[in-house]
Amino acid sequence: MIPPGYTACGPPVVAGEATVTLVRGAEGKFLWISRPLAGFEGKGFPTGGMLCPFSFANARALGALLAWLLPRRLPAGPSFGFGDRLGLATPGHARALNGSRVFPIFAQQSVRENARTGRTFADVLASAVFGALAAGHEEGFGADADHLKGVDDALHAADLGYTFFTCDPSDHVVPVENTDVQARLRGLPYWKTWRKEYLGRAFSVGGRKLRFTEDGLARAAVKYGEAVAFAAQMYRALRTRLPHGFDFELSVDETETPTTPIEHLFIALELRQHDVVLASLAPCFPGEMEKAVDYRGDLEAFRDALRAHVAIAQAMGPYRISLHSGSDKFRLYPILAEEAGDLWHVKTAGTSYLVALEIVARFAPALFRDIVRLALSRFATDRASYHVSADPRRMPDLERVPDRELPALPADCDARQVLHVTFGSVLRSELAADLRAALLEHEEEYHQALAAHLGRHLALLGVKDDG
Ligand SMILES: [Zn+2]
Repeated sequence: MIPPGYTACGPPVVAGEATVTLVRGAEGKFLWISRPLAGFEGKGFPTGGMLCPFSFANARALGALLAWLLPRRLPAGPSFGFGDRLGLATPGHARALNGSRVFPIFAQQSVRENARTGRTFADVLASAVFGALAAGHEEGFGADADHLKGVDDALHAADLGYTFFTCDPSDHVVPVENTDVQARLRGLPYWKTWRKEYLGRAFSVGGRKLRFTEDGLARAAVKYGEAVAFAAQMYRALRTRLPHGFDFELSVDETETPTTPIEHLFIALELRQHDVVLASLAPCFPGEMEKAVDYRGDLEAFRDALRAHVAIAQAMGPYRISLHSGSDKFRLYPILAEEAGDLWHVKTAGTSYLVALEIVARFAPALFRDIVRLALSRFATDRASYHVSADPRRMPDLERVPDRELPALPADCDARQVLHVTFGSVLRSELAADLRAALLEHEEEYHQALAAHLGRHLALLGVKDDG
């Protein structure tokens, strides 16, 4: 019996010897279990039931009883990352998946995002588990520890149950534009081997032959030689910790210049030398892949680069080509689907936070105005390390925008990026509690808006019917 003061907000689910139900009370949502079970923490009731917070320990205990709540590895086919900065979006993401054929990653935050929001890999995973339970999403999901720059972070995520590890070797990538390539080469222990192995050899890739020139090989080796060694080190550490397997992505999307096919080939060949099996690789594409707005650049140039990367991924893997900063890249999705077939992965995160702000703008305009003001005051600082070009001076004057027009503000390109990069400042401010309360109060509208917005992403990617 659910205790007085609480109401069920999900169907009862049989878990081992108990029934678990999501319930809602004055202080938020909890897990109600009909009788005490091993591993759960919470408050016992005289009737024998237990009220449990949405903690990591309880998420893990649930996973031990219900296998569909344990993160799992990617099956064959395309996959999609639904990053969730607030930890409240998963039920909306699950709804977006209705009628689609894509495997979801529900837990996906980077080390950088967690640092900004004050969250942890454990919190992020727990939110995904409770979200999947709320949605009754029994088809499985993955958990991506995104943009890992250190081996310790990767192992920590592995211990928590993450299944997907995105290695970000960018600290080890050498920008070759302003570098004395020849001087650098002398410091690379394997240069002679690489020269002997790769120089002049023709590699058959997608019906084309790729060949390393002396200069091309030198630049690839200098730019990515150390990065590949770092990726291999992280991979080996994970393999020791997770001998039953895991998904490993290499992301070089945040580099200064686009990844050329020959650079990609060099990375793939070297990873193979190190016995690294990739699930996906995120290259840096030509054109502007800015946060939260559509692609700005030449679509044909994107298509050509993508086609070359897919051919290499097919020949050397197969593994997926991963599109980072994938939120709202509506012009790119049809091309990705056409060129990559099923070999793609897309990552989004910021866009779900922006959907949350649209809901706040609709239902709590005063709070939304406070959030915009805070975002404007923090933008100059928070934009560091994000690829954006917003100019707050181009935004409409907040004081002159009537309440009824506020919900359109996050669609304004400049406002959108200002709001996008300042999520950490907002979520660690005193506004965060009100933001969460507003979303809980309008949960149905929030989840519906998420399902519509992310559903549009999936429809354009060709994995969901438009209807
Ligand atoms: Zn990225």
